[in-house]
Amino acid sequence: MCWIFGYIGDKNDAQKILIHWLERLEYRWYDSAGIFVGNKSWKTKLIKAIWKVSNLANKMYNSLETNESWNFGIAHTRWATHWWISEENTHPHHDNNKNFHIVHNWIIENYHQLKEELKGKWYQFYSETDSEVIANLLEYLWNWDFLETVEKVLNKIRGAYALLILSKMNPNEMIAVRLWSPLIFAYDENNDFYFSSDKQALSGYVDKFIYMDDGDILHIKDKDYKIKANGVNVSRKIEDMDIKLLESSKWDFKHFMLKEIFEQATIIKRIFKWRVNFENNTMNTDAFHGMKDEKFTKIVFVWCGTSYNAWVLWTYYMENLAWLESISYIASEYEYQNIKVNDETLFVFISQSWETADSIEVLKLLKTKWAKTFWIVNVVGSTISRLTDYWLFTRAGAEIWVASTKAFTAQITCIILLALFLWQKRWLSKAKYDQVMSALNDVPDKIEQVLNSHLEIKKIAEEIAKHKDFFFLWRHYQLSIARESSLKFKEITYLHSEFYPTWELKHWPLALVDEKIPSVLFLPKDILFERNLSSIQEIKARKWKVLIISDEEIKSADFFIKIPSCIDETYPFVTAVVGQLLAYYSADFLNKEIDKPRNLAKSVTVK
Ligand code: GLU
Repeated sequence: MCWIFGYIGDKNDAQKILIHWLERLEYRWYDSAGIFVGNKSWKTKLIKAIWKVSNLANKMYNSLETNESWNFGIAHTRWATHWWISEENTHPHHDNNKNFHIVHNWIIENYHQLKEELKGKWYQFYSETDSEVIANLLEYLWNWDFLETVEKVLNKIRGAYALLILSKMNPNEMIAVRLWSPLIFAYDENNDFYFSSDKQALSGYVDKFIYMDDGDILHIKDKDYKIKANGVNVSRKIEDMDIKLLESSKWDFKHFMLKEIFEQATIIKRIFKWRVNFENNTMNTDAFHGMKDEKFTKIVFVWCGTSYNAWVLWTYYMENLAWLESISYIASEYEYQNIKVNDETLFVFISQSWETADSIEVLKLLKTKWAKTFWIVNVVGSTISRLTDYWLFTRAGAEIWVASTKAFTAQITCIILLALFLWQKRWLSKAKYDQVMSALNDVPDKIEQVLNSHLEIKKIAEEIAKHKDFFFLWRHYQLSIARESSLKFKEITYLHSEFYPTWELKHWPLALVDEKIPSVLFLPKDILFERNLSSIQEIKARKWKVLIISDEEIKSADFFIKIPSCIDETYPFVTAVVGQLLAYYSADFLNKEIDKPRNLAKSVTVK
């Protein structure tokens, strides 16, 4: 995700403040960062670096003299929407004469046309971004009045933006504007001014802040500020900054569920950071806590709740990747079955909540039989991690929302790593291993792409949520995701849904065909894509409405959600996020209490 930050005031270390904020939000995904700082006599410095904030920080500390004062600055983390990840394309951007510097979040839709117009006026462009157009447009339309010039520019651009603008001709001023992209403004007791896309960055700096509204233009001048909207001065509500609450707050998301859905790319990166070295595709075996020399021939999975859906994917991974037999038992039924225990069998548990009573009972029972056990668990030091032989921490962070989203994707990330680990020990095809590894490395990026299309998914969710019953259709690896999506849908919309393999439609689901029951078809371009296409014909021939989720445009779809292309093993990561967003936006459309689904609790602590 991309962020903008700004500071203007009497402090002498604007550069440090800005870098600190960039670091605070570094755990979120983006691909380059830059800052522009200056002093009261307009001595300025522009520094940019790709990838890590530490690259930018090193560059900054090497190029700025320690005794120099910097009283204002703007900073940006970029998630490239227009062209490559490069220093040229990194913000802040400036016009041809370096009279204006800007940082911009989001997208200018008519940038191409504006760029052509400006090129006709001899303006040159050093970057491929849409944002650079804004800087040159400011220069082109400059009429010696900062605010009026900005207004003229806003009348010309179309799109979505949060913008911070500095002008060389107005050295102690800053203008901030927003439309569809968040921007927070704050000031402290010394009348120093701060901007950030997210209040998280500002905690500890200010006690109060203001959420700017869409269309607001905020002008800082003469140690004061004015907000203009629709041509007139307005005032906005001042809110308290609650630092303690902040860590576990929803930030600016409407619900915890949405926040947690949006955290997933970052979490998967964090899991990889601890366990995988993608430079040589090796795994940190310490992550599996001693499980180096075991020779298992069978995996028994003990499950409850959502973890069954993770297990379903596990069986595909284990059998296709590690060639290991894998079976499952429901935890609450386990003690009534006579299960064989031996040294070649590994018992695997997955727990998204931290103290699941029925699973712990089974674990204790298995320990009396000297079984080898493995836990995939989210919280270090929980009961589970103290009782088991081997474990893997998912490190998904506290999951506030009752039903699982980020814990599920963290679990499937861990199980594919475990499958690859066991596979590696069995010396199966190295080429396939490398292919999966490299596809895994791309997963956070692919998830971000799905998250960036959330508004399109929202529109479709609002259409399909008008129905009452659903079929979630799947084949192959998508079984797990269709099950999980159907479950999420039920949990928070309270609408009825079934999940079923497309190939089996004729066995009975076609008997229920009715235009009032839409089907949601997970149709990535995987090994079964071609065969699934004929199922669409079966559905359409019977006037069933179908929502297709695919990386290949399907003309006959009534609704269509495009996903990025992956390999068969990694499609589930992106389709899982689509399923979550679909459930979330449908429930929101229906005004359900999303963060507190009726009758459900986060952790099942009774047996
Ligand atoms: N559209 C701009 C770019 O590609 C801004 C992207 C962002 O919001 O980070 O540079």
